[in-house]
Amino acid sequence: MSLHSLRRVSHHEWLVAAGLLLLCGLFASAVAGGMQGADAMPVQLSAPPGQDGNRASISADGRGIVVAGKPGEAVARMRFTLPQRSDRDEPWVVWVERKPVERIQLVRDGWRSEQRGFFKPHANAGPLPTGYLFQLPYGWEGDIELELHVTGAMPAVLRPRVVGNAEAWRVERQGVAISATIYASLFTLALLALALFSAARDSLFLTLFGCAALTLLTLAAVNGHLYQVQGLRWLALWGAQGLLALQFLLCASLPQLLMRYAGTRRAHPGVARGVDIACVAMALLAATCLLDLQPMLRWLQPLAMVARVACALACMGLVLDAARRRLPMAWPLAILALLTIVAGVARQLMLWGYLQDVPWVRSGDQVALAGAMAILAVGVINRISDYRDQRDRDQLARLDSERRMQREASRSDLNAALQVKLRSCAEGDIEWTAFHQLLEHLVPLVRAGRAIVLARGYHGQDVQVVVPAVRRGEAEALLGKRELSLKRHAANGIPLQQPLSVGDAGGLAMEALVPLPIRAPAWGMLLLERAGGEGFTTEELALAGEFVRLALVHVDQALTAIQLRRSAELDALTGTFNRRTIDQWVVRSFGEAERDGQPISVLFVDMDHFKAINDKYGHACGDHCLREVARALRNALGEGDLLGRYGGEEFIAVLPARGGAAARMVGELLRGDVERLMLEWEGQPLRLTVSVGVATRLRDERPPETIDRADKALYAAKRGGRNCVHVAPAVFS
Ligand code: GH3
Ligand code: MG
Ligand code: MG
Repeated sequence: MSLHSLRRVSHHEWLVAAGLLLLCGLFASAVAGGMQGADAMPVQLSAPPGQDGNRASISADGRGIVVAGKPGEAVARMRFTLPQRSDRDEPWVVWVERKPVERIQLVRDGWRSEQRGFFKPHANAGPLPTGYLFQLPYGWEGDIELELHVTGAMPAVLRPRVVGNAEAWRVERQGVAISATIYASLFTLALLALALFSAARDSLFLTLFGCAALTLLTLAAVNGHLYQVQGLRWLALWGAQGLLALQFLLCASLPQLLMRYAGTRRAHPGVARGVDIACVAMALLAATCLLDLQPMLRWLQPLAMVARVACALACMGLVLDAARRRLPMAWPLAILALLTIVAGVARQLMLWGYLQDVPWVRSGDQVALAGAMAILAVGVINRISDYRDQRDRDQLARLDSERRMQREASRSDLNAALQVKLRSCAEGDIEWTAFHQLLEHLVPLVRAGRAIVLARGYHGQDVQVVVPAVRRGEAEALLGKRELSLKRHAANGIPLQQPLSVGDAGGLAMEALVPLPIRAPAWGMLLLERAGGEGFTTEELALAGEFVRLALVHVDQALTAIQLRRSAELDALTGTFNRRTIDQWVVRSFGEAERDGQPISVLFVDMDHFKAINDKYGHACGDHCLREVARALRNALGEGDLLGRYGGEEFIAVLPARGGAAARMVGELLRGDVERLMLEWEGQPLRLTVSVGVATRLRDERPPETIDRADKALYAAKRGGRNCVHVAPAVFS
């Protein structure tokens, strides 16, 4: 572990690690302190001669009886001296730590103690017994020799101690305290994991719960306490094999939990696969144990040892990898994992007889394991903050995409509204309508209290739209004094915002100024006002700019469309319908007249001696005359009448619902109006006259035929001396 990587460990982890070490120290010193009071009689152990078959061997330190784990009884002899006692002295007790033995009993000629067994609960043993207690008869004194008879399915080293009754119970109480602490912490942890699972719905917490519960079960089984519990006594049916099964299961589940905590599956898929295979193998071994095949026990026992070592190594590797990747609580967890392993090794050495049988060696690995589980739980719970972050990020992303969708919808709404409204809009109203639509769509999106579009000289006119609407005078008052500064801002072309004090009370508001990109000298500005000090975001300003551009594009398009339509339908010089349009209208009007049974008349109007005007004053004067005559004709005609330039200086008028007499009257009106025109060209008065040919549609007559008759009537009028009206007969002779 380099100094560099140490620096990366967060402060609170150091704190937890230091706290843990302190706790471990306190625990060790408390237990060691408790030991000093232990006062035991020296005991000599020996294997009884002459009983080769079941003679127990004595451990290396001479203080333990080695049970080989083979079927049959092992017998050892223990010799000790009891002092003389007064009547009030407490009885002596032989205390042997609880190991998974089938049966244990003390024998002295004629006297037999009660039988005790790991899997058989004993009524007087207390709730969480630590050892087997055999009270010696009260009167015993001096040298005592006892035989210890043990049958055990698991190898173990038993270290009988002869102590006073009080001392025995003190050791028991100490054991109860340690075991209760371990079980309580694991139980709390399991409950917490379950609660977290129901809250966060992450299966990681379920794994944590499973692991904590399994650890609790295994430790309770290893200590023999599981078989003391009323409802769980049936677990003793499997005996030693059940113990092994639980150990295999624990060895399989711990690395699984650690892998999930450390995210190993993502970081090192190969390693995860290897661990998975090993775990499956252990689960299979656990299942084999439950088959309860007695001969298998010999093999399963060393396999369980191998599994424990492999599990310890795997867990240590996983935790160190997690620490390297700076996962929360990984370093404290690594320390505790190491402690667990060291304590486990110490316990094993004690079982083999290389270490003294003292409580902290007896329970150290269990305490450390419970601590490691707790730290692991803290690390796992830390992930909740990851969830919260993730959830916040998701929520933000969702809000963001909702906002974007809303804007997108609003943009396309504006687009559609502009298209529809501007299509049916009079030319002069296009700008106002577009800006009004723009504000209607923008204001709810940017939460503006008031919005104004101001355009000066845009397509030659001044436009001002205020939302919500105000009276004309008010709008003027709103902007009157600011026009100059607004114009300056508009020239910058950059949106900006500024605080604004509104109302007499001096309330605060923010005002955004978004210039309209229109060509100088015209200028325009969008003003958005929001009450309170909250400014407009860059995004909102960008959106406003985008909406403004959209509106302007639509204004341009609508105007272009109007101009295009005009140039396609109208004659450029006179502004009357062109030949193509009037031809279409004639056909249409004739169809309507026929359908409605109404008369319809066509008038041909040709200017008299027009060539002479061109020749005398030039074409510019001719054009001027054409325009003026067209205006006069237009003014003389009614609302439903149509006027078009048929070619050159020839106009055609279509009069729906007018028969011969009415049409002649209109013709006379036209002629008279033109005659009365007072025109001038370069200071000289011009006199213009027109000749008019009138034809009224005959029954079943098609437009070309009527037009043809009107044309002929015009020629007749020309021939008749010009400046007159001639009505076409049904048939020209
Ligand atoms: P009339 O009384 O017999 O109709 O005599 P007119 O001179 O009007 O004879 P005509 O109809 O044949 O002459 C048409 C003249 O109109 C010819 C052309 O110089 C003139 N003209 C046709 N179109 C235009 C135009 O767009 N602008 C101008 N300035 N002159 C046109
Ligand atoms: Mg003419
Ligand atoms: Mg002509």
